[in-house]
Amino acid sequence: MSLRVLFIDGVHSHGNWRETGHVVRAHLAGAGIFELEHLREPEPERFQADFARFDVVIPYYCPVPGAGRDPAWPEATRAALASYVRQGGGLVVIHAASNAFASWPEYNRMIGLGGWGGRDAGAGPYLYLDAHGRVVRSDEPGPAGHHEPEFEYAIDVRAPAHPVMAGMPLRWLHRLDEVYGNLRGPGEGLEVLATAFSGKTADGTQRHEPVVMTISYGEGRVFHTTLGHGVCALECLGVRALLQRGTEWAATGQVSLPLPEGFPSERATSAFAVPSAAR
Ligand code: ZN
Repeated sequence: MSLRVLFIDGVHSHGNWRETGHVVRAHLAGAGIFELEHLREPEPERFQADFARFDVVIPYYCPVPGAGRDPAWPEATRAALASYVRQGGGLVVIHAASNAFASWPEYNRMIGLGGWGGRDAGAGPYLYLDAHGRVVRSDEPGPAGHHEPEFEYAIDVRAPAHPVMAGMPLRWLHRLDEVYGNLRGPGEGLEVLATAFSGKTADGTQRHEPVVMTISYGEGRVFHTTLGHGVCALECLGVRALLQRGTEWAATGQVSLPLPEGFPSERATSAFAVPSAAR
């Protein structure tokens, strides 16, 4: 069985998006179950796609608002994506895509939580886990989106029975990456699959921040991870497995892909190097 994946890029808040996107696509290609189509559109206002032809859509896309303008896809494209997911389509949201389209309400419902882009209390509550592992939704005012400088950190699995997480050590060490924190959003139908603690420095949020989550939107499934700032982070074998299994789950609701040999442990990171020549 081949699952049809639409990978969209062309505008991004991170300057290295061509390289990081290449690593994401290499991971998906390596799973052996996906048929990838790559659509690049540097002008958001022109973007259109026939989403219904795909089992899962990955908007690796993040226009940066500026000068009073929040570049957006055309209304027809936005409505088509929301309708596609509502009717059972899969969506995968990776790192900076958490920050895209702040003024598009249905996008915020689909991704559950987001940061930056002018998001504040109007976007929805903050969502994080307390020291007992309980989900906290806080309406306190404040901006959305924060991260310390990159560091190596532990990923805490919060939903070990979820098909994407099954078999993973309950705590495993991730490579150098940002921990997104202070995310806010509607958070409806959201399940936190994994967290990381933002607190390497005093500048952290000192909270267990969601880094892997799912959102149900109508009949559709959304897999959302805030991991993956740079190539180093994306080459984490744990992230490779998350992207492969999360994409399969978003497409089908199930996971057939086994965990890879050499998965990171609580004490040691593990990498899967993607050849750079093809980037
Ligand atoms: Zn980043």
